[in-house]
Amino acid sequence: MKPTEKSPEIESFLKSIGVDRHAAATTQTCVWCKNPVDGFRDALSRKEYGISGLCQSCQDKVFSSEDEGDDPMDGDFDADWRNEE
Ligand SMILES: [Zn+2]
Repeated sequence: MKPTEKSPEIESFLKSIGVDRHAAATTQTCVWCKNPVDGFRDALSRKEYGISGLCQSCQDKVFSSEDEGDDPMDGDFDADWRNEE
């Protein structure tokens, strides 16, 4: 599967923490939560897994918060910064 430019920020982040997304794609597990991948909502999400190695659940977390903070992966997903003005 060929990486695209859809999520360069995620890819660079994964590289920065040493995630081997290629291995994850081979074993059909998520690089982030380590759980087996059990399906995707749509073709785009499936494609995204090939790029980032994130399962549907983790994609939702990452991409839903991507435009709300500079570094959504830094710390707890449920951190209070979501609600700060
Ligand atoms: Zn996951």
